[in-house]
Amino acid sequence: MRQFQFDYHTDFTLKNELTKIRLWCDSSVYSHIVFQIYSENNDVEKIKNVCDIVSRELPNAEYFGCSTNGNIIGGEYSGEEISLICTVFEFPSTNMIIKQYDLSAETYEAVTDDLLDMIDRNPWVKAVELLTTIRGMSMTGFCEKLSQAKPDIQIFGGGAFAADVNDHHACVFSKNGGISEGSVVFWLLGGEDLDIISTYVTGWKPLGKVFHVTKSEGSRLYELDGAPAYDVYHKYLNIKNDDKFFSHTLEFPFFYNHHGINILRAPTESLKDGSLMMTSDMESDVSAQLAYGDPGTILESVREEGIKIRDFRPENVQIFSCAARRSFWGNTEISKESMPFGNIAPTSGFYTSGEFLRTGKYVNQHNVTMVLVGMREGLAEDLPAKALEVDENEFTGKMALINRLANYINAAFRELEEAAILDSLTKLYNRAEIQHRINERLISGKPLSLVMIDIDNFKSVNDTYGHNEGDNVIIGLADMLKEGIARHDNIASAGRWGGEEFMVLLPVGVNDAIIAAKEMVNYFNDIEFPLAGQRTISVGVTEALDDDTLDELLFRVDSALYDAKRGGKNRFVVV
Ligand code: GH3
Ligand code: MG
Ligand code: MG
Repeated sequence: MRQFQFDYHTDFTLKNELTKIRLWCDSSVYSHIVFQIYSENNDVEKIKNVCDIVSRELPNAEYFGCSTNGNIIGGEYSGEEISLICTVFEFPSTNMIIKQYDLSAETYEAVTDDLLDMIDRNPWVKAVELLTTIRGMSMTGFCEKLSQAKPDIQIFGGGAFAADVNDHHACVFSKNGGISEGSVVFWLLGGEDLDIISTYVTGWKPLGKVFHVTKSEGSRLYELDGAPAYDVYHKYLNIKNDDKFFSHTLEFPFFYNHHGINILRAPTESLKDGSLMMTSDMESDVSAQLAYGDPGTILESVREEGIKIRDFRPENVQIFSCAARRSFWGNTEISKESMPFGNIAPTSGFYTSGEFLRTGKYVNQHNVTMVLVGMREGLAEDLPAKALEVDENEFTGKMALINRLANYINAAFRELEEAAILDSLTKLYNRAEIQHRINERLISGKPLSLVMIDIDNFKSVNDTYGHNEGDNVIIGLADMLKEGIARHDNIASAGRWGGEEFMVLLPVGVNDAIIAAKEMVNYFNDIEFPLAGQRTISVGVTEALDDDTLDELLFRVDSALYDAKRGGKNRFVVV
């Protein structure tokens, strides 16, 4: 496989480049010549002109391409309007089909049916690359249908875009299909000597608060935590509902787990009722967080995926990377995340309106993601090993600032979340939290026993030795419970129920709960407090019954504790 990458400057320079390719081909053995043509400008006349010249100069070459938010050539953002990548396949076994379909919501089923049929009829197919126009359209059904392809078929590609992210026009094109604002081009690739690897990098990290998707239909996200979804962007990021909404939210997509992988999902517009149109469907009843780009994490993932790609020994690498990543890094820094691949093999691609990748069975539409594809004809051993070079320098300026602020937000958020559920003196759960956990367990129907503890004659500790020593005794009991829980594989949880009263949730039946209660009474007795010496506790034990309500269960454990007190303290009673 041989690749030629260059930008279009004038018709003259283009013809020169095409002549070089023709001369190379004339003296070589090859099976297919394919041009990928990327245009940062959606100027149909200019695109057509370039396509016509390619057709004239190399009549046996195929071509396809799309409008983009920027082209990648030689591993870097090109900056030029039109870029051409010519791949010459050298192995006779390599096979391919390029097919363009008109695409609208009504026809995607027929289109994907046709594709699946084509895959079945051509057993040599190993991968499908797709370029598609997607703005304003849900691709969920499309992705679901593509997921039905034979499981070993790799699927990847990108959404056509425009230089201006607020521009809704985009096109795809191919030699046989012409230029279209509503189409998909499939490039089916395969053959026994062609190998392909596909993977992805995000590096975006979840930020602060976890939201619950309370209402969502298709790609329209109505509510988060019961409030209009737009409120989140307004309240937390101060993003206004104006014509810049799309570009301002692009760098802060939602992060959530879909089919077992982490997906980033960005809004395309905010509607009057406060709902958001997302780039693809979002499920209801999932947890989602806003996410931000973290340069260190991005380059870490680039290194990780870079090793996989390097070890595959590709002859070329393609990148389908989200436009949001370009606007995040800026034009001078964006190549930091693509150049490491450029050092491994000739690397090209474009900035997309959405990235497609099959991971396992499912074809997902991503946002804010960089999809990577490596190709090779022949054996890996026949190709030289290349070094992976990822920028190791610490980030400075704006990037360092973002990283530190995001770190602060996440750390502060964790502290606040903990503070909201922990008792400040003992660092056990507070009453609300332990009660919440008891209720969850009760609803689950799994084994549940409660142990309720009250320190005996505690008032006399306070009265005789002072409040500080009283606190020491409370903390001593709490620490004993924590150690006990840690000893038993952290399967229980304990909370402070009130002053010197504690509640322990044990996910076990009553017999094991009795063993635990006996241990608690004995161990507490063994503790020697500085002033108060040895103290005792009384303990109530009960097991949840099938039809228990929370109130009934709590009442029973309380009455068990009461019986232990009445029976003379320093003991446990089971009810
Ligand atoms: P009994 O054996 O019947 O449980 O007797 P008791 O003295 O332990 O009974 P009671 O429940 O009436 O006493 C609880 C006392 O705990 C009352 C309150 O002043 C004290 N207390 C509550 N919270 C704290 C705390 O955080 N620190 C300290 N030092 N004392 C507390
Ligand atoms: Mg008490
Ligand atoms: Mg007491």
